[in-house]
Amino acid sequence: MAKKQFKAESKRLLDLMINSIYTHKEIFLREIISNASDAIDKLYYLTLTENTGISREDFFIRITLDKDANTIIISDNGIGMNKDEMENNLGTIAKSGSLQFKNENADKMDAKDAIDIIGQFGVGFYSAFMVSSKIQVISKRYGEETANLWESTGADGYSIAPCEKDSVGTEIILYLKDDTEDEKYSDYLKEYKIKGLIKKYSDYIRYPIKMNVEKHRMKEATEEQKADENFTPEYESYREDEVLNSMVPIWKKSKGDITNEDYNQFYKEKFFDFEDPARVIHTNVEGVSTYNSLLYIPARAPFNYYTREYEKGLQLYSSGVLIMDKCADLLPDHFSFVKGLVDSQDLSLNISREMLQHDRQLKAIAVRLEKKIKSELLEMLNTDREKYEKFFENFGLQLKFGAYNGYGQNKDAVQELLLFYSSSEKKLVTLSEYVSRMKEDQKYIYYACGESIDKLDKMPQTELLKDKGYEILYCTDEVDEFAIKMLGTIEEKQFKSVSSEDLGIEESSEEKEAAEKQKEENKELLEAMKEALGDKVSEVRVSQRLKSHPVCLASAGDLSIEMEKVLNAMPNASEKISAEKVLEINANHNVFQALKEAFAGDKEKVKVYAELLYNQALLIEGLSIEDPIEFSNAICSLM
Ligand code: ADP
Ligand code: MG
Repeated sequence: MAKKQFKAESKRLLDLMINSIYTHKEIFLREIISNASDAIDKLYYLTLTENTGISREDFFIRITLDKDANTIIISDNGIGMNKDEMENNLGTIAKSGSLQFKNENADKMDAKDAIDIIGQFGVGFYSAFMVSSKIQVISKRYGEETANLWESTGADGYSIAPCEKDSVGTEIILYLKDDTEDEKYSDYLKEYKIKGLIKKYSDYIRYPIKMNVEKHRMKEATEEQKADENFTPEYESYREDEVLNSMVPIWKKSKGDITNEDYNQFYKEKFFDFEDPARVIHTNVEGVSTYNSLLYIPARAPFNYYTREYEKGLQLYSSGVLIMDKCADLLPDHFSFVKGLVDSQDLSLNISREMLQHDRQLKAIAVRLEKKIKSELLEMLNTDREKYEKFFENFGLQLKFGAYNGYGQNKDAVQELLLFYSSSEKKLVTLSEYVSRMKEDQKYIYYACGESIDKLDKMPQTELLKDKGYEILYCTDEVDEFAIKMLGTIEEKQFKSVSSEDLGIEESSEEKEAAEKQKEENKELLEAMKEALGDKVSEVRVSQRLKSHPVCLASAGDLSIEMEKVLNAMPNASEKISAEKVLEINANHNVFQALKEAFAGDKEKVKVYAELLYNQALLIEGLSIEDPIEFSNAICSLM
C-alpha cells in the first residue's frame, strides 16, 4: 500500500515534538490513555443522546505488555475512528479531533452532560514516538462496518489500510525502541513500571484501566501435607485482571461525601507526611476560571523546609490528568509551605513546563488561591488561636521572610498573619491587637530585638517604656527587624526600636527643663568622654530612658545595632558594617557620680571609665568588645 507523506509542516513539527516538547518520555502513556478516555467519553456522550444499548459500566481501557513482541498495546472501546478520521486526526499534527468534537457538540450539551474532554492540542498522540520505533493504530468506528490499520515509523509518513477488528474501539500498538545506554525503553514492559505511571499520571481517569498482572498466592496444601509438621507452604504465581487507577478523584467529590479521615488519609499518602494536616482547604470554583483545588497546611514544617532543597509547588491536573508534579507558579513564596493540587479543565494537557509559566489561566488561579489561603489562615487565627500559634511556630518565619523579600511587595498579604511576643501580654500577639491596646499618648509601635525573650525583658533600653505602661514587641528572629522595616506602618502607626535615639515620648515642660539643665551642667564631662571614645560612638549623652541600669547604647541612623549583628554574621558579608551608636548614661546612677568626681580630679581616669562603660554597653547588646584583655585589666586595676 502507498505510503502517504505527513503534511510538510507536520513533518517538522513531528520532529520538534518528538525531541523537544516534552521533558519526560514517560508521559507518552498519559497521552495515549487520555486519548482513550476521550474516545470513550465521546461514545458515552452518544449513549446519552441516542439509544446505543451500551451502559457506562461497559467501558474500559486495557493495557497489554508483550515482552516477546516488544510491544505495549493500549486498547479502548470508545468511539473509534474511520479512515477519514485517521487521516485527519493522526495524519495532521496539531489537528485535534477531540477539540472539533467539543466545538461541534458544545451547543447541544447542557451543563450537566458537558463532557470535559482532555485533548485539544492535537499533539499528544505523537509523544508515543519518543519511545516507539513504529506505531500501529487499529480502529473501528462506532456505527461502521470496516476497521482500518494506520501505521507509521515516524517522520517519514504513514499508511492506512483496511483490516479486521471485531469490536468497536481503538487499539494502539507501540513497538518500543531498542534500549540505548541512556534510555531503557524495555522498562516500559515491566508491570510495576506501568502501574507506577498510571498511578502518577492517570489515576483519576474516569474509566477503569485494566491490566492482566502477575500475582502470587499460597498453594492449597493437600491433606497429606497438612499432616506433615515439616511442611513449608509453597507459593504459585497466577495472572489476574487488575484495575490500576482509582478513578474518582477525592477533590471532585462533593464535600458532604468526604470525611475528615478521607481528607487526611489522602494527604498522608499523596504528600508523604505521617501527621494529619493542620488544615484542609477544598474549593470548587466556577466562573472565569473553573477549577477544583484541594490544599493542605501541614502540621509541621518538613525537615528541609528552610533550606534550598525545599521545592514549593502544587500538583497541577487537567481534568484529572497530572500535568505537573510541582507547579511553583501556583504558590507565592510566603505560602510555600502549602501542599496540594489544582485541577482545571481550562488548562491544556499538552503544554510543557516552560509554556505553562505564561499561562494566563494559571496566573488567575494562583491569585485566587493566595487569597483563599490567606483567608483560611486568618480564620484559624481568629477561631483557634492555639492551633494558629502552632502553625506560626512552624511557618511564621516564612511569613516574616515574605514581608521582607522583594522590598516588601508582599507585605499586605502577610502582615495580618504575623505574631510577635508581647512584653505586657506575655504571649504572641498580632500587630493590630497591639495597635488597639496602644496608650493614648503613645506614638509608636515599640519593638526590641535580641537573642531571647528573657534577655530582652532585662534590656536597659526598655525601662522607660515599661514605666510608661507601653507594650513592647520582642523580636528574637534575625529577620524580624528587617521585616518590620519593610512593613513600615500598621494602621498608620510607625514602628520604633527601643534602641533608637529618639523614642518619641512626650515630655512635660519640667522634664524637658531638667534634661536641658543636666545636659548643660555635664557638657564638658560628656564631651571628654566622647573624645576618649573617638569614632566608636557618635555622641555620649545623658539618658532619658534608663531607670536602674547605668548605661546603654542607642542607634542613631537607619541601621540598628541588631541589624549590624545580623548583616555581619552573613556568610557573604565582605566588609564589616557598623551602626551609628550613641552611648547613653544614667545620670541618676552611682556610676555617674564617680564619673563627675573623676572629671573634677584625675582627667585620665575619665578616659578609662568611658572605655569601660562603652564596653559594658557593648556586652549588654551582645556585641563583642574589641580588646577583652584590656577590658578585664582595667576592671582589675580599679578594684
Ligand atoms: P488531542 O488529544 O489533543 O486532540 P492527540 O494528538 O492526542 O491530540 O490526538 C489526535 C486525535 O486523534 C484526537 O483528537 C482524536 O480525534 C484522535 N484519537 C487519538 N486516539 C484516539 C483513540 N484511542 N480513539 C479515537 N480517536 C483517537
Ligand atoms: Mg490527546
